[in-house]
Parts: sequence; structure tokens; C-alpha cells
Amino acid sequence: MLLVRNIRLPLSCPDPDAEATAQALQILRLPPARAVQTGVSKLSVDARHGKPVLVYTIAVTLNDEGEESALAGASPCVCFTRPPRFDFPVGGTPLAHRPVVVGLGPAGLFAALLLARSGYRPLVLERGPDLTRRVEAVERFEKTGELDPNANIQFGEGGAGTFSDGKLTTRVGDPLCAFVTQAFLAHGAPADIAWRQKPHVGTDLLRGIIRSIRGEIESLGGEIHFDTALTGLKRRGGLLTGIETTAGDFPCDSMILAVGHSARDTFAMLHRAALPLECKPFSVGFRAEHLQSEIEKSLYHAAAGHPSLPRGEYQLSQHVRGGRCVYTFCMCPGGTVCAAASEEGGVVTNGMSLHARDGRNANAAVVVSVDGRDFDEDPAKAVAFQRRLEQAAFRAGGGAYQAPAETVGSFLQGRGHLELDRVQPTYPRGVTPADLGALLPDELAGSLREGLTAFGRKLAAYRAPDAVLTGLETRTSSPVRLLRDGETLECTTLEGLYPCGEGAGYAGGIMTAAVDGVRCAAALMRHHAPADL
Ligand code: FAD
Repeated sequence: MLLVRNIRLPLSCPDPDAEATAQALQILRLPPARAVQTGVSKLSVDARHGKPVLVYTIAVTLNDEGEESALAGASPCVCFTRPPRFDFPVGGTPLAHRPVVVGLGPAGLFAALLLARSGYRPLVLERGPDLTRRVEAVERFEKTGELDPNANIQFGEGGAGTFSDGKLTTRVGDPLCAFVTQAFLAHGAPADIAWRQKPHVGTDLLRGIIRSIRGEIESLGGEIHFDTALTGLKRRGGLLTGIETTAGDFPCDSMILAVGHSARDTFAMLHRAALPLECKPFSVGFRAEHLQSEIEKSLYHAAAGHPSLPRGEYQLSQHVRGGRCVYTFCMCPGGTVCAAASEEGGVVTNGMSLHARDGRNANAAVVVSVDGRDFDEDPAKAVAFQRRLEQAAFRAGGGAYQAPAETVGSFLQGRGHLELDRVQPTYPRGVTPADLGALLPDELAGSLREGLTAFGRKLAAYRAPDAVLTGLETRTSSPVRLLRDGETLECTTLEGLYPCGEGAGYAGGIMTAAVDGVRCAAALMRHHAPADL
């Protein structure tokens, strides 16, 4: 693929996407018929020098990679990216049993996909139900407040990212990202995820893709056991020999453990089994909701509302007193705040959006970092802290899974008021006015106030006092890490166990979790040939 950058067009250009594409082809000296595919990779606004201009990066794909690479020198603004090739080695010692993958989030799904494609016929255990029943459970919870601890926004087929914005952005430049993108494309993702700088799928499309990938795993002999949770491990010396599950015991000599950041009972089991679990930094705070149009005014200035511009996104961060960092996270343009609890008696917020991202509000988590020093380096204390905050939010919300909320202006003054103006909160169970600062330790509430004030200096929308804060956001990433060997990726004290994905502390987001799943499956395959069953 060729990327042609820095194509600058005035706002008045009648069809800027087409014009930018035409200019890209001119720069490459290519007749349009030679391009197999063209698309907008990135579009931003440069408003630095008075009149704002649109700045495009156009992706161009030809039939022949050799030709693409020859064109790369056409101009300094052209660059060529070669799609990586994947050749996963299969090792020598045959497994005695089929490999087990625990968890069907992105990490488990992609681990199982690679294993299935390579002839290993994995057994996949997922504590929650398939997507159809999971969606029903989530909708029932939103309507009635009846929470199913095994079928919710965190648990069930597809894992935590299923009800999400489906952002596939990542800052890791791992070539395995291309493996994940190719699989997404083969299973129906929009073609533009191949060239967009910030690819996104949306919860609506993501569900079909997940079902389709599961279908491929099953068609290759993989087996998915829904409503089946891992509850214990069996070992001899330092070797994994079997697993205990809610559906009985299985012999097992290789297991990819991809349980996500909310599997607190599984973490407790690993802790009791004296496996090397340590504290890892994570963050807590709340969701901020603004009008999407206000965000776009702040970002695009006079160009706001231009039909070619993508929905405005932002990412803000600020170092605050005490060595902490306050930052925005998982911003969902045109999205809604979702009810992401997985334990009874707790309220947890998160955000999601449809592919069209056409909702009225923008939301983002605004969170402050905490780490092992806050919890005496004890993973159990870190989980207990998250749970305490969620329970405090539940009580403040009124006890029926409504969420506590207040406006930014109120939070900055510690008033606990919710005088709604232009921004209507979207949390599906409804909100209750509450003093969010009182639900958090004083130091963290102070940090969040300092951070929000600084954000107001960086992005005008953050100065609006009527933006709504809904809380609490506690599941930003895993509070724990299960240590693994840097080379074999096996747990440092238990051979055959591959800690994987976000729950084990090796990923943060859909793409990085999926990549880690592929990486763990490849590590397993380097050592073992499939079981000869
Ligand atoms: P998970 O996705 O958490 O999957 C773990 C799976 O393991 C779950 O299905 C769970 O049911 C299962 N499980 C747990 N314990 C057991 C057990 N003992 N036995 C059997 N199964 C078990 N990231 C992005 O990159 N972009 C986004 O737009 C985005 N939006 C998000 C929106 C929401 C609402 C949420 C909650 C998260 C979002 N994330 C997003 C984060 C992303 O979803 C996670 O980083 C990612 O899903 C982690 O993948 P994983 O496979 O490691 O774990």
C-alpha cells in the first residue's frame, strides 16, 4: 500500500475526498484505472495559519507490490508499506491433549483462530453465553436492573470489547496487527480498516464479525464450550496437568489463559494457587459526556460541521501533583455511556458506539492512575479497592444500578449537583445526582479536579460547566499481571500455562489483546505439535 500525505485543500472544495484522491494519483503519475483501491487514510484540519485547510493522507493500493515500492520515491510525501507475511512455526513435541483456550474475548478468539487454522483443534471455555443470549442479558439488565454475573458487558462471547466503540487503534507497531486486521476483513469488517489511521468498527458490526470468526474456528474442528468457567488448576511439579471447570475436570497440558480484566474470582484462584501474580498500574475516575458538536467546534474551529470531516476525537493527559497522571481514555465519538458492571451491588461505567458514530453526545473516560504503591503491592487489595469504589457508586446511585452523576462545574466545586442543560446523560439505567468526589479517596478526587481544569486549557469543550460526569469508571485495565517468561510466554512457575491478553496484564484494548492471543498461540505452537487424537 502507498500512502500519499499532506494533500492540502481549502474548505470550499466541493468534493474534497475525490479531489484529494485525484491529486494523490497525479503525484504518483498513475492513471486512475491502475489503482485497485483508494481511500482516505487520515483527514485533519490545519487551522494554524488563519484560514483552516483540510489535510489528507490518501491510501493507494496497486495490483503489484513491486510497482508500489518503485513508486515510493515519486515524492517525499509518498511512503510504501509492505503487508507482513506470517509463517508460524509448528514445534516438535506433540501435545498429549488438545490445547485449551480460556476466555472468548479478542485474546482468546484470536489465539483459538490461529490454533484452529494450524490444525490444533482447540477447546475454548467461556464463562458466559453465546452472543445472542448475551445481548439479551445485557438488554434485560439495562431495562430491569437484573444483572447476570456471567452474561454482561464484560463476560460472554466476544469479551469486553463486544459492546464497545470497536476502535482498533493501537500504538504498538507489531506486524501481527496486520494478521488481526486481515482476519477482521475476511469476516466482514469494513474495508477501510485496512487503510484508516484510526480504524473503528462499532459494536453493531463487531458482533457479526465475532460470530463469523467463531464459525471458522468450529469449522476447523475447534470446540467452544459456553457457560463453562475455569475454576482450578492441576499440576505435577512445575507442569500443568489438568483443569477444573464448572462443567467438570479436563486433562490439559497447554492452556492459554485469556480471562480479561474483570475475572476477579479467577485472579483469586490464581493467587490461592500461589502463581506469580503482581500488582499493575490501572486507573479510576468517571465518564465525561459532551455534545459531539462542541467537541468538533473545539477541534475543527471554523471547519466544524464540514461534511467531509470525521467525527471529532480527542485524547488528553496531564501530569498532576503526587506523580499521578490524569488522562482521557476510550473516547467514543457519537456514542453512549454503558452500564459495565459484572458483580452484583456495583456500578461501573464504560463507553460504546455504533459504526455510524452518529449519537448526539461524545463520551470519554477521565481517569487518574493508581499503582501497586497504593495497595502495598498486594493484588488482592487492588481488586478490593476497585470493588469498594463500584459499591460506593451503586449506593450513591440509589441501589438499582442507576449511576451517580454531576456536572463538571459541580464536581470542580464539590457540590454534587446535576443541573442538566444541553448535555443529556446516556447511561441506560439512568443517573442520580451525587458528589462523585466523595466516592473517591480525597487525593484522587483532587487529582481529577486538577486534571479537568488543565483539560479546559487544552480543549475548549472541557471548559463547558454543563458537561456531565457519570461514575465510576474502574475497569480501565487489569489491576494484576501474571508473570510469564519473555521467550516461551509460559507462566514463570507453571509450564503449559500461557497468561494472555488484558487480564494477565499483557494488553490494553481490542487490537493489543488480539495480537497477544496470536503471539501466545504462536509460542505454544513453537514448542508443540498438535495432539494426535
Ligand atoms: P476480555 O475481552 O475481557 O475477554 C475475556 C473473556 O474471558 C470474557 O469473555 C470472559 O467472560 C471470559 N472469562 C473470564 N473468566 C473466565 C473463566 N474463569 N473461565 C472462562 N471464561 C472466563 N478496547 C479498544 O481497543 N477499543 C474500544 O473501542 C474499546 N471499547 C471498550 C468498551 C467497553 C464497554 C469495554 C468494557 C471495553 C472496551 N475496550 C476497548 C477494551 C477491550 O474490550 C479489552 O481491552 C479487550 O476486550 C481485552 O481482551 P481480552 O480478550 O484480553 O479480555
